[in-house]
Amino acid sequence: MRKPLLLLAVAALVPGPLHSQTAPGKPVDWTALATESQRVLSDYLKINTTNPPGNEILAANFLKAILEREGIVVQLYDSAELGSGHVNLYARIKGNGTKKAIALVNHMDVVPATPSFWSVDPFGGIVKDGYIWGRGAIDMKGEAVAHLMAMIALKRSGVPLNRDIVFIANSDEEFTSTGALAFVKNHADLLKDVEYIITEATENSVKNGKVDYFSVGVAEKRTFWQRLTVKGVPSHGSRPTKQNPVPRLVRALNRIAEFETPLHVTPGVEKFFRDISRLYPEPRRSWLADVKKAIENPQAREWILSDVYWNAYLRNTISLTGMTGSGKTNVIPPEATADIDVRLLPDTDPAQMLATLKGIVADTAVHFTTLLEPKTPLESPTDTDLFRAIERAARDREPNAFVTTPMQTGATDRPTYRKLGIVTYAIDPFKTEQAERQRGVHGNDERLSVENVIFGVRYVYDILRYAQ
Ligand SMILES: [Zn+2]
Repeated sequence: MRKPLLLLAVAALVPGPLHSQTAPGKPVDWTALATESQRVLSDYLKINTTNPPGNEILAANFLKAILEREGIVVQLYDSAELGSGHVNLYARIKGNGTKKAIALVNHMDVVPATPSFWSVDPFGGIVKDGYIWGRGAIDMKGEAVAHLMAMIALKRSGVPLNRDIVFIANSDEEFTSTGALAFVKNHADLLKDVEYIITEATENSVKNGKVDYFSVGVAEKRTFWQRLTVKGVPSHGSRPTKQNPVPRLVRALNRIAEFETPLHVTPGVEKFFRDISRLYPEPRRSWLADVKKAIENPQAREWILSDVYWNAYLRNTISLTGMTGSGKTNVIPPEATADIDVRLLPDTDPAQMLATLKGIVADTAVHFTTLLEPKTPLESPTDTDLFRAIERAARDREPNAFVTTPMQTGATDRPTYRKLGIVTYAIDPFKTEQAERQRGVHGNDERLSVENVIFGVRYVYDILRYAQ
């Protein structure tokens, strides 16, 4: 069904009827779906899944009832293994199987909220001043509703699907991340035909209601936490000795603190800087357009690294964080320890990094213990059908915006799924100003604008449709 190019270009600017024209199926009543989605989110926010303890079974039963009303079969899994009210939810709508499935993955738990710091009840599901307020409105019950209602809209519209669409709601992402781990360990069979996962952990760049760029998270740093231990001989602080472990540890830490890790440009990061270069005047534009060259130029390098995010995108990082020595000022302790937060780029070999650290410290009395083994490296490719579908859906909404790939500097559940070879993308379905997002997520007065609810549902819907 080829259409003249001009007509397509015009149609792409008009969100509404395009979808019913390009594929058979019943048109979606977006106005009604907006009201319905808003009500679903408001009700979802009333379910208190603060983790710990989580109690995600309440959320799972809520989602299950909604999905089953649509004739979608739902399974609840892993309750015995996860214990005390935790459960994982799984549902799927069938395509014709000519292409592999796309899974929408979200978590049902939320971080604690302190009601005295909020201007509304964090579990009231209150709609006020154009916003839906509540813990989880953004992270990530709002996004879960975008997944849920997009899938339901596809089912209702009867649009022919080449791919199955899978919906997975995990327990316990915010506290110990056991939900995704248990699901992947126990249900690899349910994921074996899944080609792509869409989940959280990135932010669109929105300024004054206008999107500069839509983000697709393709890569994340890997935590490789270390504890340094020095043993000594305990004695009284009034009589200094050479066997005090504290100065020896301090010497080691000083060497680490002065060490500058080399700069290294990974594929997603190179693309990110190239893409955003258009937002800057010269000479910054040229610097960002070729970041590999720019980091050789002292002036460009200094400017780029002055941004704490960009600095972390471009190198392995080390932060000295925790230290212990004596609990008493007058006692030389038998042992001193320090914890360091090491974060690796996706293509760094952890063993190589550990050898580098030991070389810098150059003292065999300092023992290294790995506190947290790094997860599977995460660097998903961008040359895929799904990435192109996201670009198309983004262009529909903001013809002047672009899609790019910032690195995630924190750790998420994505590598747990990536381990199975699934291409894993983080998308942010909403147009949320950065300040609003930063205040609300894990903070106070978390809220999502009413328009954003249906914006998110339609964005996910279009991505899923275009990826067929
Ligand atoms: Zn989250």
